[in-house]
Amino acid sequence: MADDRLISPEWQEQEDYPEGSLRPLYLDDYIGQDKVKENIRVFISAARERNESLDHVLLSGPPGLGKTTLASIVANEIGKPIRKTSGPAIERPGDLAAILTNLEPGEILFIDEIHRLNRTVEEVLYPAMEDYVIDIVIGKGPAARTLRLDLPPFTLIGATTRPGLLSSPLRDRFGISCRLDYYTEEDLTKIITRAAGILNISIDPEGAAEIARRSRGTPRVANRLLKRVRDYAMVKADARITKEVADQALRMMEIDEWGLDMVDRMILEAIIHKFQGGPVGLETLAAAVSEEQDTLTDVYEPYLLKMGLIQKTPRGRIATELAYQHLGLKSPRSLESGGLFAWDEE
Ligand code: ADP
Repeated sequence: MADDRLISPEWQEQEDYPEGSLRPLYLDDYIGQDKVKENIRVFISAARERNESLDHVLLSGPPGLGKTTLASIVANEIGKPIRKTSGPAIERPGDLAAILTNLEPGEILFIDEIHRLNRTVEEVLYPAMEDYVIDIVIGKGPAARTLRLDLPPFTLIGATTRPGLLSSPLRDRFGISCRLDYYTEEDLTKIITRAAGILNISIDPEGAAEIARRSRGTPRVANRLLKRVRDYAMVKADARITKEVADQALRMMEIDEWGLDMVDRMILEAIIHKFQGGPVGLETLAAAVSEEQDTLTDVYEPYLLKMGLIQKTPRGRIATELAYQHLGLKSPRSLESGGLFAWDEE
């Protein structure tokens, strides 16, 4: 099942289609996220006017919202090359030093999952970001010396699904910090229509809107669903995606009206049935649904929280009244007098 996931975080590495062809290349083609776009536009033109490299940028938000795409767009807009790597891929300070010393002036260094850099590597970044220098230690023991190397001016674009895990010295060194939000249905409809045009898929406006509504606010999910629905339409419906065809295909994929998939529902059901509605701790919940804790916190929970289906409390996650309703269950809380949580009254 894991390979067939619609929203797994591994997608980025496992794309089975040329996602590149769907990536917008310039800001004007990047749909939605108006505030972020506006910010970036201002900073880019200011940097151009001053003829300086752009300030370092931190992009945060759940997977699939367009952080990597935006980093490439910034590079295109300022006409500089971009080099992409990720936090876990840079294991030692020497690895980062090698990358930094090989950058061209003005180049963009994109580090995905920057919250997963280890601390010794992170310390190399501080002077690099601030003064474009790195300190390299040569030799060991009492004979060790530090050598300071100048770097070309560069722009670091860091992407993270968990901004809260960034150390504050690192966070403070980003001049620009942008948080990407889930997309509106309207914007997702535009993204789907654009992708359908590129991929030569025949789709009705209502068909696009139906897929958008069930794409959990995420362009990557929208593009992925579009392709799956297209396959279904080719076999069952003359290759044209209408609202009905989209609905049938998504139902077959067990994606419900709100865009929840099997795992989302498993999480809600586990909280409700195994833990009496919660609160339940992350570790326990992850074990109950056989998922990694990081996958729960980065991929599933943000959407369930946004939809108001779960709440986070100091004692753990709880299923909300809405979660019971969505699953067609009666909430025990609604039966209690006053509807208050029993433990609050103890
Ligand atoms: P992230 O880096 O946040 O995980 P990506 O940048 O890899 O997300 O985006 C996933 C896919 O979604 C991209 O390949 C692109 O096709 C599509 N996409 C993301 N944001 C947009 C957008 N604003 N407009 C159009 N397509 C987008």
